[in-house]
Formats: sequence, C-alpha cells, structure tokens
Amino acid sequence: MRTFGRGSRTKTPLPLAPARIVAVGGGFGGFHALRRLQKLLEPERVSLTLVAPTDYLLYSPLLPEVATGVLDPRDIAVSIRQTLRRTRTVLGHVSSIDFGERTLRVEGRDGITEVEWDKLILAPGSVTRQFDIPGVAENAHGLKTLSEATFIRNHVLAQLDAADSLPDTPAGRAERIERLTVVAVGAGYTGTEFVAQMQNWVKGIATRWASIDPSDVRWLLVDLAPAVLPELGDKLGKEAMDVLTARGVEIRLEVSVASATATSVTLTDGTVVPSRTLVWGAGVAPSPLIAKLDLPTEKGRLVVEPDMTVPGVPNVWAIGDAAAVPDLALDASKPTPPTAQHAQRQGVQVAKNVAASLGVGESKPYFHKDLGLVADLGGFDGVAKPLGIPLKGPVAKFVARSYHLYALPTAAARVRVATDWLYSTILPTRVVNLDQVRAEDALIAKAQGQ
Ligand SMILES: Cc1cc2nc3c(=O)[nH]c(=O)nc-3n(C[C@H](O)[C@H](O)[C@H](O)COP(=O)(O)OP(=O)(O)OC[C@H]3O[C@@H](n4cnc5c(N)ncnc54)[C@H](O)[C@@H]3O)c2cc1C
Repeated sequence: MRTFGRGSRTKTPLPLAPARIVAVGGGFGGFHALRRLQKLLEPERVSLTLVAPTDYLLYSPLLPEVATGVLDPRDIAVSIRQTLRRTRTVLGHVSSIDFGERTLRVEGRDGITEVEWDKLILAPGSVTRQFDIPGVAENAHGLKTLSEATFIRNHVLAQLDAADSLPDTPAGRAERIERLTVVAVGAGYTGTEFVAQMQNWVKGIATRWASIDPSDVRWLLVDLAPAVLPELGDKLGKEAMDVLTARGVEIRLEVSVASATATSVTLTDGTVVPSRTLVWGAGVAPSPLIAKLDLPTEKGRLVVEPDMTVPGVPNVWAIGDAAAVPDLALDASKPTPPTAQHAQRQGVQVAKNVAASLGVGESKPYFHKDLGLVADLGGFDGVAKPLGIPLKGPVAKFVARSYHLYALPTAAARVRVATDWLYSTILPTRVVNLDQVRAEDALIAKAQGQ
C-alpha cells in the first residue's frame, strides 16, 4: 500500500493496465478535472487524455478586456500542454460517442480519430444562445471566443475609421450613423461588461479621429428581462444601470431583437436602429454535442446525479455549463448556474469521484456555496457581490480584478494579466487595428464549430 497526491489516501493495488481517463473539453471544468487527476493518480495507474478543439483554457470572464485591447489575447489563453504535462491532448471536436464500445469520434484538422476510454468526463461547455431570429446568425457576433473578441475590437475600430472619412452628404451622414452605432443584446454579465468597457474605451480614443466626438458614438444595451445584471440583485443592477445611463448608454429593457441586417437592427417594439455592429450576449446554450448523445437533458443540459455521474451510462460523468448538476447548496431541484466558478469546482470534485471509482478516496456529491459575481464596468466602475456583500465603484472594481488574479489558473497568466493592467493605466490606450480575424470566422455559427 502506498499513498500519493494531496493528503494521505489509502490505495488499492494497481490494475494490470492503466485506466484510460478521457475528458472532453478543456475549459474550466475539463482543465481543472485533469489537473486534479494528475495530482490524485500516479502515471502507472491512469493515462489521461484531453479532447478539445484548442490547446488552451480560455479564461472567458476577461474576454471584454481583450475586446478593448487592455489585455492581449494570449494573456487569457492558458497553455494546456505547459500546465497539464501528463495529459495527452487530441485536438478536435468530438462528433459522436459510442457508450457501448467506449469510443469517441474526434474530427480534427487532419482527419478523424477514434479515442477509447474507460472513464469519461464530459465538459464541452456551452455556445452562444441564438434564437431563431432572422438575420442574427449572419450578422451578429458573440463574445465567447478569442476570435470573436478580437474581431469585435477590430470591427469597431474599422467603423470609426470609415465614419471619419465619409463625405458630408445625406448618404454619407446616414452611413456615419450606422457605423457609429453599437447594439449589444443581453444585459447579463457578458453584454453589460462588454458595453460598459467598450464605451469607456471608445470614449477615450474617439478624439483621435478628426471628425468624431465620443458623444457621436451611440450605444444600445437591449434585453428582454426587466433588469440589468439580474444575477446581482435589484440594488446593484440599478447601480450598474445608473453608471451606464450617466455615460450615455441607452438601455432598452423588456424588448428584444425582431430581425437584423448588415446595416440595421429592428427591435420587437418596432424601432429600427441603423447599425453595423450587433453583439450577441443573450445567454448560453449547452454544447451541441449534448443533443447528439440521446440521453435525458434538462433545458438542454445533460441530466446528472449529485455526484455528477450520468444515469444509465456507467463510468461517465458530466460537469460545467453542459450538465445540469443539482445545486445542493441552494436548491437541489435546480441546476447550478452556468458559471466558471461552478465549472471549476465541479472539475475538482469530479476528479475526486473518478479517482474514487478506481479505489482512491471516496466519491461525494457536488456542493459549493456560490461566492457571488463581480462585474467590471470599465474605468473605475464596477459592481460586485462577494459572499453576499454588495459593493460598487472602485472598491468593486478592485475586488473584481483581485478575484480574477486569484482565479487565473497559473502564475504566468496572473503576471501577464497584472502587467497588462498596469501598462493600461500608465501607457496610452492601444488603438491599432491588426485586422487579423476575418468577419466570417467570428460569426456565432462558426464559433460553435458548425
Ligand atoms: C464573456 C464572458 C464572461 C464571463 N464571465 C464570467 C464570470 O465573471 N464569472 C463566472 O463564474 N463565469 C463567467 N462566464 C461563464 C464561464 O466562462 C463559463 O460558465 C465556463 O467557461 C464554463 O466552463 P465549462 O468547462 O463548462 O465550459 P468552457 O469553459 O466553455 O469549456 C468548454 C470546452 O469544451 C470544448 N468543446 C466544446 N464542444 C466540444 C466538442 N464537441 N468536442 C471537444 N471539445 C469541445 C470548448 O472548445 C471548450 O474548450 C463568462 C462567460 C463569458 C463568455
């Protein structure tokens, strides 16, 4: 008998061949599951494989800061090969799973691979939720990938460039309005942080164009819900709304988008907004992989037991945005919300449960009391509710940034992000447009790997 990893655990004798543990998805859930498994189980006992389309964990809460150029895209892309050294990475999308044969079909750039597993962790996350609204798939850009964040930044800069050089004619003036109007849909943290941070950034740089005053740029935040940032409660939602309104952002609640074209957005109340920039942050839907599995789902998320096992299919667990993990800390009849906070902790707990299935430690249900949310509104503004304490202004901003530094998974990522934050306060704001992402690569459908 030997002990291994954190804490002293009694271990069963090694099996003849190492168990093959495979995780699908290298986001918060999959990454943290594999990282913990590396600590819990020695190499002779298990082989670890990750199947994911990218070789990095994307720290998505900081995507709006990539869109504003405060952070470099690589700051928030944490290398999987550098961090999960014992894990083999297979790059590609899982297109189907055979639970009887215990195989996965992976579609990669260089063709199709079959991967075999003994224990499977499903963590394919979520995609931007689209509604069947005419013109949205073709004209809206999500904010879930690095390509999308980089594209939106370049696109907004290109609109300022083009608006600045338009002739002062009726047609030129009409086009100028389209180019200087940004519509963001979704007043949850994605849409709200995006609008707040972009508006603050553009306000600071607009004077660099000869004919543009910051007040010429029109910002609209649209949501079907009656409140901004409902996750933070009425008081902080109102606070965020006041900050945005004071900066000139128009907030249109209890309306949505009826249709969109390349040059306009029509709202459900009939208003036609001339605009060439539509950003879609109206929630998420589970990865399309889940619907292909022919297993019970709850609002599209895979139904799992409190210990995150998938009922009816032995040796399979599911976590994160793609799974409906019962929220035992709040209300066991509801799933945990789709947040990084839960996905990361579910990853750690699922690793322990998978190890327990191999005779190391014991399996436990997932239990985590939400620590609250933070929202950075750009400049010195923010709203946050850590451990239920409502905070606003610079204090909230400080808490938000401290939380992100704590939650980033490697010291290198923390140093890179902190350094860029420091540079962004003492150096001039970055305004160059490297134009390195094509518009078609940043459409929602493309971001979903379709
Ligand atoms: C702009 C933005 C801001 C956010 N801010 C916050 C915040 O402040 N706090 C918070 O807690 N949460 C926040 N979130 C939510 C958080 O990012 C998600 O809840 C979290 O990423 C979910 O983790 P996950 O592991 O389930 O999925 P993800 O992190 O999305 O990872 C899923 C992985 O699976 C891969 N994948 C998908 N399909 C397949 C397939 N078929 N085969 C193989 N791999 C596949 C994906 O490429 C990805 O690597 C934010 C999200 C966004 C977009």
